[in-house]
Amino acid sequence: MFKNSKKLFSRAQKYLVGGVNSPVRAFKSVGGNPIFIHKGKGAYLWDVDGNKYADFVGSWGPLILGHNHPSILLKIRQQAVLGSSYGAPTELEIEMAKLVSEAIPSIEKVRFVSSGTEAAMSAIRLARGATKRDKIIKFSGCYHGHSDGLLVKAGSGATTLGVPDSSGIPKAYSAQTIVLPYNDSSAAIRCFKKMGEEIAAIIVEPIAANMGVILPQKGFLETLRHVTQQWGALLIFDEVITGFRVSYGGAQKLLGIKPDLTCLGKIIGGGLPVGAFGGKKEIMEHLSPLGPVYQAGTLSGNPLAMAAGIETLKQLKKLNPYSELEKRCKKFIQSWISAAQINQIGSLFTLFFSEQPVTDYSSALKANTKLYAQFFHKLLEQGIYFPPSQFEAAFISCAHEESLLEKISYKILNTLRSLNPRTEVLE
Ligand SMILES: *Cc1c(COP(=O)(O)O)cnc(C)c1O
Repeated sequence: MFKNSKKLFSRAQKYLVGGVNSPVRAFKSVGGNPIFIHKGKGAYLWDVDGNKYADFVGSWGPLILGHNHPSILLKIRQQAVLGSSYGAPTELEIEMAKLVSEAIPSIEKVRFVSSGTEAAMSAIRLARGATKRDKIIKFSGCYHGHSDGLLVKAGSGATTLGVPDSSGIPKAYSAQTIVLPYNDSSAAIRCFKKMGEEIAAIIVEPIAANMGVILPQKGFLETLRHVTQQWGALLIFDEVITGFRVSYGGAQKLLGIKPDLTCLGKIIGGGLPVGAFGGKKEIMEHLSPLGPVYQAGTLSGNPLAMAAGIETLKQLKKLNPYSELEKRCKKFIQSWISAAQINQIGSLFTLFFSEQPVTDYSSALKANTKLYAQFFHKLLEQGIYFPPSQFEAAFISCAHEESLLEKISYKILNTLRSLNPRTEVLE
């Protein structure tokens, strides 16, 4: 079934580190060989052996409109004929910035970069520059890209590979990062009481999706908003996943909380490499060329990426698919609830093999990753591509039609039954 993928993986390992360019792709936590992809269309992927999969990874979040969306493809084509990069400003950047700012009003001004990592890293530098303070707070299990100061208890790939803290990061660097438990309001308040005047910013995933999906409990984000205001620190929402995913205005619109700075990525690139950070005008204007906080990028605001991003946002604005996606996703997962812990919001969810509710990093870590690995491979054999790690979000897209979801939901239920004796008891 996977003959060509296996061949490619052994060739890849000769020239690429571990055969991949991003660690979670290597299937380490679920075992076996990664499948190599030939093409994607709508809700489906095809691998190099000709196997077809219903895809629930969606390139890890960007593809809310499905693979190879015709109008995005057209816009990329039209731009490609005019050139792929100029290193000089284009009108596309203004159009994209306007769309972002209109969707997310807390973003008065924005800067485009080429990845979510760059967005979060630059937002932190800006927060430090604007407040003239050094320390930042992050929450364990939240991922904000792989920059030095943010790769502490960072969930996601790091958790999957069992390296919660990367080597190669100077202690002096990570010492500026305070890590607190997600959903623990009182820990945040205590921390500010102790050293509030040294804290530049809190960075948080308003809905966590990199230790699996974990929803913010009532009052948690409100407390972060309040305590940062009280102490003159900035609140940074990392909406690289949630932006344009949980609503057109992101998690901040859905939950009604306005951060000072917002990081974006994934969806806003329409499948091309883009990130962005933005916020209040007075804060953003600390950034070069207006201010002393330096930030730059050869391919920032790249015209191909802007063209894909603009078309994605226009489609989302026109379709407004969010309540329909929520409805479909809820229906999709409904029948598995007796077999596992399922955290879901909008079109993203995680199925945890766990006995208890999953509300933070330590409860996420109690999930049975061995069972998840078996589950993953059983799905793969049935043509269902789920995230190759217990600690990642699964996504549906607008291309996942109800009839497809119904069929797959049933297959997943049967797979869960075959794996988990608990479901039979509950029948
Ligand atoms: C994916 C992700 C990032 C990093 O984005 P890259 O484009 O992979 O660098 C940062 N923050 C969050 C919340 C993410 O999900």
